[in-house]
Amino acid sequence: MATFRCRTCHQEDAAVYDASRHACPRCGSREVQFAIGIDEMPDPLIDAILELADGAEPLDRDREED
Ligand SMILES: [Zn+2]
Repeated sequence: MATFRCRTCHQEDAAVYDASRHACPRCGSREVQFAIGIDEMPDPLIDAILELADGAEPLDRDREED
């Protein structure tokens, strides 16, 4: 579930985010911000985030050092 905050009607509530229609669910204003839960993010975006996280600090503690 995503939450939205609208700068036009000042409503703040939970709503299903529709990426194809970025507008306030209450008044239809485009001056709205969405906070999207990770379960609603598109898969390519999640993959990109995980890739960044992997690249930042590889976890290979078992590697032998010589
Ligand atoms: Zn609104």
